[in-house]
Amino acid sequence: MKYPVYERFYTWQGEGVHLGRAAYFIRLYGCPQACPWCDSAGTWHRDYRPDSVPLLSAQELSEAVQQEAPQGAFVVLTGGEPILFDLAPLVTLLHAQGRRVHLETSGIAPLRGAVDWVTLSPKPFGQPPLPEVVAQATEVKIIVHEPDDIAAGLATLEGLPTDAPIWLHPEWSKARDRDAGVLNAITQAVKADPRLRAGYQLHKLYRPDELDPHSDKRLIPLGGQVALGY
Ligand code: SF4
Repeated sequence: MKYPVYERFYTWQGEGVHLGRAAYFIRLYGCPQACPWCDSAGTWHRDYRPDSVPLLSAQELSEAVQQEAPQGAFVVLTGGEPILFDLAPLVTLLHAQGRRVHLETSGIAPLRGAVDWVTLSPKPFGQPPLPEVVAQATEVKIIVHEPDDIAAGLATLEGLPTDAPIWLHPEWSKARDRDAGVLNAITQAVKADPRLRAGYQLHKLYRPDELDPHSDKRLIPLGGQVALGY
């Protein structure tokens, strides 16, 4: 099989438990969730589809990672919605390189592939995560566009392992604008439940992804501001 690869780039992880660590991102094409603030809208939105999407085999992707990222960098499979694909062949080859493989997903399909880390980002207004994926999550990222998104996201997490941290990330345009309603709601939620953590997308400040020649540098406005490149 081949994977539709929207973009791939060597960068660092900008959020969550592995914040700041060198990582090679593989962003697969296609997502049915249609989040109105999506910051990867080129992977699904009809107005921002690229002219073409290369199809790469697990072997070709594995070789690209080996050539473009030093040993020790882990791999992040993201999208789009990567859980729609059989990730097992790719994960097997990356493990053979000695790399850890992380997955970022909204959890809407069974997970195929023995990944080492699952960041679950539930989208309760779209398709909620499958219980079996919730049970496999190692961390959770709830995007908070409105204060009510916190409770809606938490309501999807029955069966989450008790040691999985739950990040509350202000949706990026709200963070950029320092939206007091969203930021204060996150603060109040974290103070009320110490299992929750206040998060931030540090890569939106550094923009390290843009330094890699394979990243998509088109200006796509959903959830952001075209003039600033996100
Ligand atoms: S699930 Fe992720 S990739 Fe899909 S539309 Fe929502 S934010 Fe975008």
